[in-house]
Amino acid sequence: MKIVLKHLTKEFPSRTKKGEVTVAVNDFDIEIPDGKLIGLLGPSGCGKSTALNLICGLETPTRGQIFFGENDVTKLSPENRGIGMVFQNYALYPHLTVEQNIRFPLENLKGKNKISKEEMNAKVLEAAKLVQIDDYMERKPNQLSGGQQQRVAIARALVKRPQVLLLDEPLSNLDARLRLQTREEIRRIQKETLITTIFVTHDQEEAMSISDLIVVMKTGVIQQVGKPQEVYNKPVNLFVAKFLGTPAINVFEGRMEGGKLLIGGKAVLERPDVPDQDVYVGIRPEGFIVDGNGPFELDLQSVEVMGRDTSVVAEHPSSLSGTTRAIVSTDDAEHVGGKKVRFSLKKAKVHLFRKDTEELIED
Ligand code: ADP
Ligand code: MG
Repeated sequence: MKIVLKHLTKEFPSRTKKGEVTVAVNDFDIEIPDGKLIGLLGPSGCGKSTALNLICGLETPTRGQIFFGENDVTKLSPENRGIGMVFQNYALYPHLTVEQNIRFPLENLKGKNKISKEEMNAKVLEAAKLVQIDDYMERKPNQLSGGQQQRVAIARALVKRPQVLLLDEPLSNLDARLRLQTREEIRRIQKETLITTIFVTHDQEEAMSISDLIVVMKTGVIQQVGKPQEVYNKPVNLFVAKFLGTPAINVFEGRMEGGKLLIGGKAVLERPDVPDQDVYVGIRPEGFIVDGNGPFELDLQSVEVMGRDTSVVAEHPSSLSGTTRAIVSTDDAEHVGGKKVRFSLKKAKVHLFRKDTEELIED
Protein backbone atom coordinates (compact mmCIF):
# COMPACT_ATOMS: atom_id res chain seq x y z
CA MET A 1 0.00 0.00 0.00
CA LYS A 2 1.41 3.33 -1.09
CA ILE A 3 1.26 6.08 1.55
CA VAL A 4 0.95 9.72 0.56
CA LEU A 5 1.32 12.54 3.05
CA LYS A 6 0.16 15.98 1.91
CA HIS A 7 1.25 19.02 3.89
CA LEU A 8 0.95 16.92 7.03
CA THR A 9 1.52 19.12 10.07
CA LYS A 10 1.16 18.65 13.81
CA GLU A 11 1.48 21.46 16.30
CA PHE A 12 1.48 20.95 20.05
CA PRO A 13 1.28 23.56 22.78
CA SER A 14 4.93 23.88 23.79
CA ARG A 15 5.92 21.84 26.83
CA THR A 16 8.62 24.32 27.80
CA LYS A 17 7.47 27.77 26.61
CA LYS A 18 4.00 28.81 27.70
CA GLY A 19 1.78 30.20 24.95
CA GLU A 20 4.08 28.95 22.15
CA VAL A 21 3.62 26.01 19.81
CA THR A 22 5.99 23.19 18.93
CA VAL A 23 5.70 22.17 15.29
CA ALA A 24 6.50 18.49 15.79
CA VAL A 25 5.76 17.60 12.16
CA ASN A 26 6.14 20.46 9.70
CA ASP A 27 4.52 20.23 6.26
CA PHE A 28 5.41 16.64 5.38
CA ASP A 29 4.86 16.19 1.67
CA ILE A 30 6.01 12.80 0.63
CA GLU A 31 5.02 9.67 -1.23
CA ILE A 32 6.06 6.38 0.32
CA PRO A 33 6.15 3.64 -2.32
CA ASP A 34 4.28 0.38 -1.95
CA GLY A 35 6.06 -2.65 -0.53
CA LYS A 36 9.20 -0.89 0.67
CA LEU A 37 10.88 -0.46 4.01
CA ILE A 38 11.32 3.20 4.82
CA GLY A 39 13.66 4.33 7.58
CA LEU A 40 12.47 7.52 9.27
CA LEU A 41 15.63 8.89 10.78
CA GLY A 42 16.50 11.87 12.94
CA PRO A 43 17.74 12.90 16.37
CA SER A 44 15.61 12.50 19.47
CA GLY A 45 12.77 15.03 19.61
CA CYS A 46 12.70 15.74 15.86
CA GLY A 47 9.12 14.48 15.46
CA LYS A 48 9.52 10.86 14.35
CA SER A 49 7.01 9.37 16.79
CA THR A 50 4.53 12.15 16.10
CA ALA A 51 4.78 11.44 12.36
CA LEU A 52 4.15 7.75 12.99
CA ASN A 53 1.25 8.48 15.36
CA LEU A 54 -0.35 10.68 12.71
CA ILE A 55 -0.05 7.93 10.12
CA CYS A 56 -1.63 5.34 12.41
CA GLY A 57 -4.29 7.72 13.71
CA LEU A 58 -3.24 8.01 17.35
CA GLU A 59 -2.75 11.74 16.75
CA THR A 60 -4.96 14.09 14.72
CA PRO A 61 -3.11 16.39 12.32
CA THR A 62 -3.34 20.15 12.72
CA ARG A 63 -3.28 20.42 8.92
CA GLY A 64 -2.79 18.16 5.94
CA GLN A 65 -3.91 14.78 4.70
CA ILE A 66 -2.92 11.13 4.76
CA PHE A 67 -3.72 8.76 1.90
CA PHE A 68 -3.36 4.98 1.85
CA GLY A 69 -3.39 4.20 -1.85
CA GLU A 70 -6.13 6.45 -3.22
CA ASN A 71 -8.08 6.53 0.05
CA ASP A 72 -8.02 9.56 2.30
CA VAL A 73 -7.67 8.02 5.79
CA THR A 74 -7.04 11.31 7.61
CA LYS A 75 -10.27 11.03 9.57
CA LEU A 76 -10.38 7.24 9.99
CA SER A 77 -9.94 5.80 13.48
CA PRO A 78 -6.74 3.77 14.05
CA GLU A 79 -8.52 0.39 14.08
CA ASN A 80 -9.98 1.07 10.64
CA ARG A 81 -6.70 1.93 8.96
CA GLY A 82 -5.34 -1.62 8.59
CA ILE A 83 -2.14 -0.88 10.44
CA GLY A 84 0.17 -2.94 12.60
CA MET A 85 2.20 -0.99 15.14
CA VAL A 86 5.22 -1.98 17.20
CA PHE A 87 6.71 0.20 19.91
CA GLN A 88 10.05 0.32 21.67
CA ASN A 89 8.74 -1.25 24.88
CA TYR A 90 7.09 -4.39 23.45
CA ALA A 91 3.86 -3.66 25.41
CA LEU A 92 2.88 -7.32 25.66
CA TYR A 93 0.22 -8.43 28.13
CA PRO A 94 2.29 -9.98 30.93
CA HIS A 95 -0.42 -12.39 32.12
CA LEU A 96 -1.05 -13.81 28.64
CA THR A 97 1.05 -16.46 26.88
CA VAL A 98 2.83 -15.80 23.59
CA GLU A 99 0.00 -17.53 21.77
CA GLN A 100 -2.66 -15.45 23.55
CA ASN A 101 -0.77 -12.22 22.97
CA ILE A 102 -0.54 -12.85 19.23
CA ARG A 103 -4.20 -13.95 19.13
CA PHE A 104 -5.44 -10.88 20.99
CA PRO A 105 -6.10 -8.56 18.00
CA LEU A 106 -8.12 -11.31 16.32
CA GLU A 107 -10.35 -11.87 19.35
CA ASN A 108 -11.31 -8.22 19.19
CA LEU A 109 -12.60 -8.37 15.64
CA LYS A 110 -16.24 -7.40 15.56
CA GLY A 111 -19.28 -7.91 13.33
CA LYS A 112 -18.57 -9.10 9.84
CA ASN A 113 -14.84 -9.17 10.48
CA LYS A 114 -15.22 -11.92 13.09
CA ILE A 115 -13.39 -15.13 12.18
CA SER A 116 -13.72 -18.76 13.27
CA LYS A 117 -11.54 -20.42 15.90
CA GLU A 118 -9.84 -22.54 13.23
CA GLU A 119 -9.02 -19.50 11.12
CA MET A 120 -7.69 -17.76 14.18
CA ASN A 121 -5.43 -20.69 15.07
CA ALA A 122 -4.09 -20.79 11.55
CA LYS A 123 -3.36 -17.05 11.47
CA VAL A 124 -1.71 -17.08 14.89
CA LEU A 125 0.53 -19.98 13.92
CA GLU A 126 1.40 -18.34 10.62
CA ALA A 127 2.42 -15.08 12.31
CA ALA A 128 4.38 -16.94 15.00
CA LYS A 129 6.24 -18.94 12.35
CA LEU A 130 7.03 -15.82 10.38
CA VAL A 131 8.88 -14.32 13.35
CA GLN A 132 10.18 -17.74 14.44
CA ILE A 133 8.63 -17.75 17.89
CA ASP A 134 6.37 -20.78 17.34
CA ASP A 135 8.41 -22.97 19.70
CA TYR A 136 7.54 -20.71 22.63
CA MET A 137 3.78 -20.43 22.33
CA GLU A 138 2.99 -21.37 25.94
CA ARG A 139 5.55 -19.07 27.56
CA LYS A 140 4.73 -15.82 29.32
CA PRO A 141 6.58 -12.65 28.23
CA ASN A 142 8.80 -12.67 31.34
CA GLN A 143 10.14 -16.09 30.27
CA LEU A 144 11.45 -14.62 27.02
CA SER A 145 14.48 -12.55 26.08
CA GLY A 146 13.96 -8.96 24.96
CA GLY A 147 14.49 -9.97 21.35
CA GLN A 148 11.91 -12.75 21.61
CA GLN A 149 9.42 -10.39 23.24
CA GLN A 150 9.88 -7.95 20.40
CA ARG A 151 9.28 -10.75 17.91
CA VAL A 152 6.00 -11.55 19.66
CA ALA A 153 5.07 -7.87 19.39
CA ILE A 154 5.84 -7.99 15.67
CA ALA A 155 3.78 -11.17 15.24
CA ARG A 156 0.91 -9.50 17.05
CA ALA A 157 1.18 -6.51 14.72
CA LEU A 158 1.23 -8.80 11.67
CA VAL A 159 -1.53 -11.25 12.62
CA LYS A 160 -4.29 -9.15 11.05
CA ARG A 161 -2.26 -8.89 7.85
CA PRO A 162 -1.98 -5.11 7.98
CA GLN A 163 -1.42 -3.08 4.83
CA VAL A 164 1.07 -0.93 6.66
CA LEU A 165 3.50 -1.81 9.44
CA LEU A 166 4.81 0.97 11.67
CA LEU A 167 7.77 0.36 13.96
CA ASP A 168 8.77 3.04 16.48
CA GLU A 169 12.37 2.46 17.62
CA PRO A 170 11.63 -1.26 17.97
CA LEU A 171 15.22 -2.23 18.76
CA SER A 172 16.16 0.41 21.31
CA ASN A 173 15.56 -1.80 24.33
CA LEU A 174 17.68 -4.66 23.01
CA ASP A 175 21.36 -5.28 23.65
CA ALA A 176 23.78 -4.83 20.77
CA ARG A 177 23.82 -8.44 19.55
CA LEU A 178 20.04 -8.87 19.67
CA ARG A 179 19.62 -5.51 18.01
CA LEU A 180 21.62 -6.68 15.03
CA GLN A 181 19.84 -10.02 14.86
CA THR A 182 16.35 -8.55 15.25
CA ARG A 183 16.91 -5.91 12.63
CA GLU A 184 17.89 -8.61 10.16
CA GLU A 185 14.72 -10.46 11.15
CA ILE A 186 12.63 -7.37 10.48
CA ARG A 187 14.27 -7.00 7.09
CA ARG A 188 13.55 -10.64 6.24
CA ILE A 189 9.93 -10.43 7.39
CA GLN A 190 9.37 -7.25 5.40
CA LYS A 191 10.87 -8.80 2.27
CA GLU A 192 8.73 -11.92 2.72
CA THR A 193 5.46 -10.07 3.32
CA LEU A 194 6.15 -6.95 1.21
CA ILE A 195 4.09 -4.94 3.68
CA THR A 196 4.87 -1.23 3.36
CA THR A 197 6.87 -0.59 6.52
CA ILE A 198 8.01 2.56 8.24
CA PHE A 199 10.83 1.99 10.65
CA VAL A 200 11.63 4.85 13.01
CA THR A 201 15.07 5.16 14.52
CA HIS A 202 17.58 7.75 15.71
CA ASP A 203 20.38 5.33 14.83
CA GLN A 204 21.70 6.16 11.37
CA GLU A 205 23.56 2.89 11.01
CA GLU A 206 20.38 0.96 11.76
CA ALA A 207 18.38 2.98 9.24
CA MET A 208 21.09 2.75 6.57
CA SER A 209 21.43 -1.00 6.94
CA ILE A 210 17.80 -2.08 6.58
CA SER A 211 15.99 0.62 4.60
CA ASP A 212 15.12 0.75 0.91
CA LEU A 213 14.69 4.48 1.38
CA ILE A 214 15.57 6.77 4.24
CA VAL A 215 13.82 9.97 5.22
CA VAL A 216 16.10 12.21 7.25
CA MET A 217 14.34 14.76 9.43
CA LYS A 218 15.34 17.59 11.74
CA THR A 219 13.06 19.66 14.02
CA GLY A 220 9.90 18.49 12.28
CA VAL A 221 11.16 19.13 8.76
CA ILE A 222 12.13 16.52 6.14
CA GLN A 223 15.68 17.21 5.02
CA GLN A 224 16.26 14.52 2.43
CA VAL A 225 14.66 11.39 1.01
CA GLY A 226 16.63 8.79 -0.89
CA LYS A 227 18.33 5.45 -1.01
CA PRO A 228 20.73 5.15 1.94
CA GLN A 229 23.84 5.19 -0.24
CA GLU A 230 22.58 8.12 -2.32
CA VAL A 231 21.94 10.21 0.76
CA TYR A 232 25.33 9.24 2.18
CA ASN A 233 27.10 10.09 -1.07
CA LYS A 234 25.23 13.32 -1.71
CA PRO A 235 23.93 14.90 1.49
CA VAL A 236 21.83 17.97 0.72
CA ASN A 237 23.15 19.89 3.70
CA LEU A 238 25.69 19.85 6.50
CA PHE A 239 23.19 18.43 9.00
CA VAL A 240 22.54 15.35 6.87
CA ALA A 241 26.26 14.98 6.13
CA LYS A 242 27.05 15.00 9.85
CA PHE A 243 24.14 12.77 10.81
CA LEU A 244 25.05 9.87 8.50
CA GLY A 245 28.21 7.81 8.73
CA THR A 246 30.49 6.27 11.34
CA PRO A 247 33.07 7.49 11.96
CA ALA A 248 31.39 10.83 11.30
CA ILE A 249 32.33 13.13 8.46
CA ASN A 250 35.25 15.48 9.24
CA VAL A 251 34.29 19.14 8.95
CA PHE A 252 36.66 22.02 8.25
CA GLU A 253 36.48 25.73 7.74
CA GLY A 254 37.49 26.37 4.14
CA ARG A 255 37.57 28.85 1.28
CA MET A 256 37.09 28.58 -2.47
CA GLU A 257 39.42 30.77 -4.48
CA GLY A 258 40.05 30.62 -8.20
CA GLY A 259 38.69 27.11 -8.45
CA LYS A 260 40.86 25.82 -5.63
CA LEU A 261 39.64 24.65 -2.25
CA LEU A 262 41.78 26.11 0.53
CA ILE A 263 41.94 24.74 4.06
CA GLY A 264 44.07 26.81 6.42
CA GLY A 265 45.10 28.90 3.40
CA LYS A 266 46.58 25.91 1.54
CA ALA A 267 45.07 24.52 -1.66
CA VAL A 268 43.99 20.91 -1.05
CA LEU A 269 41.68 20.17 -4.01
CA GLU A 270 40.65 21.54 -7.41
CA ARG A 271 36.96 22.48 -7.74
CA PRO A 272 37.05 24.60 -10.89
CA ASP A 273 33.29 25.17 -11.09
CA VAL A 274 32.72 26.54 -7.61
CA PRO A 275 32.68 30.35 -7.25
CA ASP A 276 34.89 32.10 -4.69
CA GLN A 277 33.37 32.00 -1.21
CA ASP A 278 33.89 30.79 2.35
CA VAL A 279 32.67 27.21 2.77
CA TYR A 280 32.28 24.35 5.18
CA VAL A 281 34.24 21.35 3.96
CA GLY A 282 33.02 17.84 4.82
CA ILE A 283 35.51 15.04 4.21
CA ARG A 284 34.40 11.44 4.73
CA PRO A 285 36.92 9.32 6.66
CA GLU A 286 37.41 7.17 3.54
CA GLY A 287 38.13 10.29 1.46
CA PHE A 288 41.79 10.52 2.48
CA ILE A 289 44.66 8.95 0.54
CA VAL A 290 47.98 8.62 2.35
CA ASP A 291 50.39 10.51 0.11
CA GLY A 292 53.83 11.75 1.16
CA ASN A 293 53.52 14.55 -1.38
CA GLY A 294 49.81 15.20 -0.75
CA PRO A 295 48.59 18.77 -0.35
CA PHE A 296 46.68 18.34 2.93
CA GLU A 297 48.98 18.23 5.95
CA LEU A 298 47.78 17.51 9.48
CA ASP A 299 49.42 16.95 12.87
CA LEU A 300 49.53 13.22 13.46
CA GLN A 301 48.11 12.01 16.75
CA SER A 302 47.85 8.26 16.50
CA VAL A 303 47.58 5.34 14.13
CA GLU A 304 45.07 2.65 15.10
CA VAL A 305 45.31 -0.59 13.14
CA MET A 306 41.96 -2.38 12.89
CA GLY A 307 42.92 -5.38 10.76
CA ARG A 308 42.49 -4.59 7.09
CA ASP A 309 41.80 -0.90 7.78
CA THR A 310 43.75 1.63 9.76
CA SER A 311 42.40 4.73 11.41
CA VAL A 312 44.78 7.68 11.17
CA VAL A 313 43.91 10.24 13.85
CA ALA A 314 45.16 13.76 13.31
CA GLU A 315 44.56 17.40 14.17
CA HIS A 316 44.17 20.53 12.10
CA PRO A 317 43.55 24.10 13.29
CA SER A 318 40.71 24.55 10.77
CA SER A 319 38.83 21.48 11.98
CA LEU A 320 35.31 22.14 13.28
CA SER A 321 34.70 18.56 14.35
CA GLY A 322 37.53 17.89 16.80
CA THR A 323 40.14 15.34 15.84
CA THR A 324 40.17 14.22 12.24
CA ARG A 325 39.78 10.56 11.46
CA ALA A 326 40.95 9.07 8.19
CA ILE A 327 40.21 5.43 7.38
CA VAL A 328 42.86 4.03 5.04
CA SER A 329 44.02 0.58 4.12
CA THR A 330 46.53 -0.85 6.60
CA ASP A 331 49.03 -1.46 3.79
CA ASP A 332 48.91 2.21 2.80
CA ALA A 333 49.35 3.32 6.41
CA GLU A 334 52.58 1.37 6.81
CA HIS A 335 54.86 4.41 6.59
CA VAL A 336 52.66 6.85 8.50
CA GLY A 337 54.57 8.10 11.52
CA GLY A 338 56.33 11.10 13.04
CA LYS A 339 54.74 14.48 13.72
CA LYS A 340 52.92 15.13 10.43
CA VAL A 341 50.82 13.18 7.99
CA ARG A 342 50.03 14.20 4.42
CA PHE A 343 47.03 13.23 2.36
CA SER A 344 45.56 13.83 -1.03
CA LEU A 345 41.77 13.77 -1.19
CA LYS A 346 39.17 11.78 -3.15
CA LYS A 347 37.02 14.38 -4.81
CA ALA A 348 33.77 12.39 -4.53
CA LYS A 349 34.24 12.15 -0.77
CA VAL A 350 34.70 15.87 -0.23
CA HIS A 351 31.49 17.90 0.09
CA LEU A 352 31.30 21.68 0.16
CA PHE A 353 28.52 23.53 1.95
CA ARG A 354 27.49 27.17 1.84
CA LYS A 355 28.49 29.14 4.89
CA ASP A 356 25.10 30.88 5.26
CA THR A 357 22.53 28.13 4.55
CA GLU A 358 24.76 25.08 5.08
CA GLU A 359 23.36 23.67 1.82
CA LEU A 360 25.42 21.48 -0.46
CA ILE A 361 27.29 23.33 -3.21
CA GLU A 362 26.80 21.23 -6.31
CA ASP A 363 29.25 20.97 -9.17
P1 ADP B 1 10.94 11.84 18.40
O1 ADP B 1 10.05 10.66 18.33
O2 ADP B 1 11.66 12.13 17.12
O3 ADP B 1 11.90 11.77 19.54
P2 ADP B 1 8.52 13.27 19.12
O4 ADP B 1 7.62 13.08 17.95
O5 ADP B 1 8.26 12.40 20.30
O6 ADP B 1 10.04 13.15 18.64
O7 ADP B 1 8.45 14.78 19.59
C1 ADP B 1 8.62 15.86 18.69
C2 ADP B 1 8.46 17.17 19.43
O8 ADP B 1 7.10 17.34 19.81
C3 ADP B 1 9.27 17.28 20.70
O9 ADP B 1 9.69 18.62 20.83
C4 ADP B 1 8.26 16.92 21.78
O10 ADP B 1 8.59 17.55 22.99
C5 ADP B 1 6.97 17.47 21.20
N1 ADP B 1 5.79 16.72 21.63
C6 ADP B 1 5.51 15.42 21.33
N2 ADP B 1 4.32 15.06 21.86
C7 ADP B 1 3.84 16.16 22.51
C8 ADP B 1 2.65 16.44 23.26
N3 ADP B 1 1.70 15.50 23.44
N4 ADP B 1 2.52 17.68 23.77
C9 ADP B 1 3.46 18.64 23.59
N5 ADP B 1 4.59 18.44 22.89
C10 ADP B 1 4.80 17.22 22.35
MG1 MG C 1 10.07 8.88 19.48
